[in-house]
Amino acid sequence: MSFSSETKAELCRIPVSRMCCAVAEAYGILLYAHTFSHTEICMVTSCEPLARRIPPLLARAFGVTVKLPEAGSGGRYAIKITEETQLGRIFSALGYDLKYHLSYHLNRNVIEEDCCRASFLRGIFLAAGTVASPDKKTHLELTTPHHTLCREVMSLMLDMELSPKLATRKSASLLYWKDTAGAEDFLTLIGAPHAALCMMEAKVEKQLRNQINRQVNCEAANVIKASNAAAEQIAVIRRALDQSGWDIFPDALHETIRLRLDDPTASLSELASRLDPPISKPGLSHRMRRIVSIARAAAEEEQT
Ligand SMILES: [Zn+2]
Repeated sequence: MSFSSETKAELCRIPVSRMCCAVAEAYGILLYAHTFSHTEICMVTSCEPLARRIPPLLARAFGVTVKLPEAGSGGRYAIKITEETQLGRIFSALGYDLKYHLSYHLNRNVIEEDCCRASFLRGIFLAAGTVASPDKKTHLELTTPHHTLCREVMSLMLDMELSPKLATRKSASLLYWKDTAGAEDFLTLIGAPHAALCMMEAKVEKQLRNQINRQVNCEAANVIKASNAAAEQIAVIRRALDQSGWDIFPDALHETIRLRLDDPTASLSELASRLDPPISKPGLSHRMRRIVSIARAAAEEEQT
């Protein structure tokens, strides 16, 4: 199941209770539904929990009876109302005058209370919202082909201190959030706190993972640096031994040189512990620098 569907399923578990909120939620669904005109209302959805929610919601809000149809091709449900008295009830409850067919305008009188506004936005999300999975980049959007309606909903949201962005495509206008905090606020407000929490947890996890990756990369870089340095030391020492023999190095350093050449990949601390008697890592580091400088000096002498 997609994260959008999970979020819608969560929203559909909210009981249909107060009449005012039922009207507001149904209004949101109707405005963003497939068709909302004085001759036909049609709501199309492939979200089964939503399809099941619509009949009791319409009954509570408008006293209108519709039956849940069988799912059509692709699991889509189309709930249609064409009967005049039913349409009349819905339009008058929403304060529309059927003589002027301004269906796709927002009548703010229906959504004056805070509880109703949240329900209204829930209806819109149920009908026309999508939200990207929390492991992807944050993206929550509400799409409608009606540009004026989109602007009116935007201004309602700004009044509610939500901060969506507005975009216009050829055939649609959309309100969207790409910031996680904004999307979380919206989801919490419309009644999907669980989905909001999933987004927040995913974000925290992502930050943590990035931090760990940075640390690992940094440690890996240090290991590579150390082994490059060791390889360079070994090359210098070998060249000096080939050209001038062991005698250029004091006897006290022979064991250290042998250990280094026998195990080119060992770290300095490993080598330090193998010496007899063992010495500290800084001690060995100092000793290696001495060996390398003797080797370099010998090589330069050889060249002159
Ligand atoms: Zn209400």
